[in-house]
Amino acid sequence: MSTLIHIGKKELTVAEAAIGSGRKLKTMLLFPPEWVPTAPYLALPSLTAVLREQGHVVVQRDVNIEMYDLFFSDSFLIWVKARMAMQFRALQEKERTGWLTEQEADQKACLAAKLDLDLFSLIERAESAKRIVRGEEFYDAEKLEGALNTFREVMQYISAAYYPASIVFYPMESNLGYRPGVSREVFACLDDDQVNVYRDVCRQLVLPAVSKEAPDVVGVSIGTQMQLLAGLTFCKMVKEAFPHIHVTVGGNVITRLQEELPNHERFFASVFDSAILYEGEHALLWLLEALNGERSLAAVPNLIYRDEAGVHVNKEIYTEKTTALPLPDFDGLPLDSYFSPVRILPYLATRGCYWGRCTFCDHGQGYFDQYRGMSAHEVVRQVKALKEKYQATHFLFADESYPPALLKKVCQLLVEQNVGIKWTTLIRFEESLQDPELWKLAAKSGCCTLYYGMESANERVLGLMDKHVKKSVIENNLKQAAAAGIWNHVMAFYGFPGETREEAEETRRFILDHQPSIHSVELFYFVAYRHTPMVRTPEKFGITIHKQEDYDLPLDYYYTLNEPVGLTCLDAMQLCEEFYQNDFEPWAVRVNAREHVFLYISKYGTNRLPQIYAKRKAGEAAASTGVAGLVTWPVARGEAEAGKEGEPTMTRVVSHAVS
Ligand code: SF4
Repeated sequence: MSTLIHIGKKELTVAEAAIGSGRKLKTMLLFPPEWVPTAPYLALPSLTAVLREQGHVVVQRDVNIEMYDLFFSDSFLIWVKARMAMQFRALQEKERTGWLTEQEADQKACLAAKLDLDLFSLIERAESAKRIVRGEEFYDAEKLEGALNTFREVMQYISAAYYPASIVFYPMESNLGYRPGVSREVFACLDDDQVNVYRDVCRQLVLPAVSKEAPDVVGVSIGTQMQLLAGLTFCKMVKEAFPHIHVTVGGNVITRLQEELPNHERFFASVFDSAILYEGEHALLWLLEALNGERSLAAVPNLIYRDEAGVHVNKEIYTEKTTALPLPDFDGLPLDSYFSPVRILPYLATRGCYWGRCTFCDHGQGYFDQYRGMSAHEVVRQVKALKEKYQATHFLFADESYPPALLKKVCQLLVEQNVGIKWTTLIRFEESLQDPELWKLAAKSGCCTLYYGMESANERVLGLMDKHVKKSVIENNLKQAAAAGIWNHVMAFYGFPGETREEAEETRRFILDHQPSIHSVELFYFVAYRHTPMVRTPEKFGITIHKQEDYDLPLDYYYTLNEPVGLTCLDAMQLCEEFYQNDFEPWAVRVNAREHVFLYISKYGTNRLPQIYAKRKAGEAAASTGVAGLVTWPVARGEAEAGKEGEPTMTRVVSHAVS
């Protein structure tokens, strides 16, 4: 626990007091696992740009890609084997002098199987897999699929050393056996050396880097729930090893937990010193100024911090002026280490969603204000600058939903100025996007893949969602985009409260009937995310939200329907399961990250890519639950449902969770 001392009227921790010297501070920013390791994430470069502009020294580390690089290396795998051998010998000894529990016997068998494996052959294949995903062989679907499978095999090998944890490669659904929505389990996990692989990742990657760089402040960006355990593990271990360093956390998940964090003083006492909510660029800058004695902590917007009087939540919220922000600064990130044969950069032209009305959507929660955007001229100027500075031709436009007017203008400018990039983004079906010439222009400007939140094909349900799109518009947009050579990825879900079985069937039928213009699809079931209009006013939507006492860090809630009309939560899960078992086969792919398809289209110049679809071999059973689809974003296990007895557990994709 940090000791508190007084400096003037301001109370600072020892860590903070050690800093206040008037000099510019050195900050280390960390991006924790788990995230798809194909491109850098935008949070760190955005923060870095603002701090460096003000003269601060920033070291940014993408520990996510560093971790995968480490995992697929001979040194780590040999170390893992030694760890397994030690555990195996301890179990053998215990068996010799007494007896093993069922779980210990299972662990011993699991270790024995892995210790028998030809590790050097696995290491060779892992090294070769890394070469494949980073080189021209990436574009051979057979080889790419083989490389991805090797990564999965290595992760199984590593998992045995952290028994009973399951540590997996993309799609992200690692399970350390602790629920990130339950604070007592989170705290237990942070100190658990048996299952928490991130403790070793921290020892091998993070702590040596902090020791070498000697920063004054360490900032950890936790954008998704899948990063929570890794991110908090890093925070706690850095704080323990370097008590003088101020550790701060930020990111979308931290913002979503803003009501809970102040109730858990233990986080501020033993895991981190402060938390930044909403957009963090200037809040972090001003936190550095406060730590340097140039302002008080109470005067830092978006900040939660602790002093001897307790935890304080600063009332002032600062919203970034997007037009005044500097170009994201990727300097220092290992741009050639990502698992991609070309450099892919994320870029954000807007903050928030221009539509912002969908009643099931919580994307606005990361921003205090809703939509803000830049002019098309500025967007293209920045993209050109990034292209030139980083020699990058591939861009992930990470906007929540690209606004139609901006889209038209950006496409036009990209073509007029012959910018020569390839890009992909998320988009809404729109009446104003029905001109075939526009889609041709988009394709000509470099658009390769588009991700649409269709949600439902039934207009009544779309109205209930406040999505308000006509079915004819959906059909038209898909058809025109496909004809222009763009790959359409459609996301939909069953079980919006009030949706009938027939209406859900209409969505299924629509997807099946439009297979020629839907190149990949993800179907989910409705989840009551806590920061949505529906959860704020459940009575308006005919649902009751059930808060469970245990789940004191919840991001979604279990719900029931007030009237027995329409699909229940379980019905929707069941229908979803049936879709993947019975209907999904035409969309099963061998390469399953959105960036993979994006790169294939940019390479082959067509959305007709039969080589990336999985083919059923003669005599093989129909697609089962094991079938792989194109996943837009990392997958997390549905936490709300995972702990409930008697209910099926399924994986759920956290769709459009952007930086
Ligand atoms: S679902 Fe998509 S379009 Fe609707 S508010 Fe959310 S981000 Fe915007």
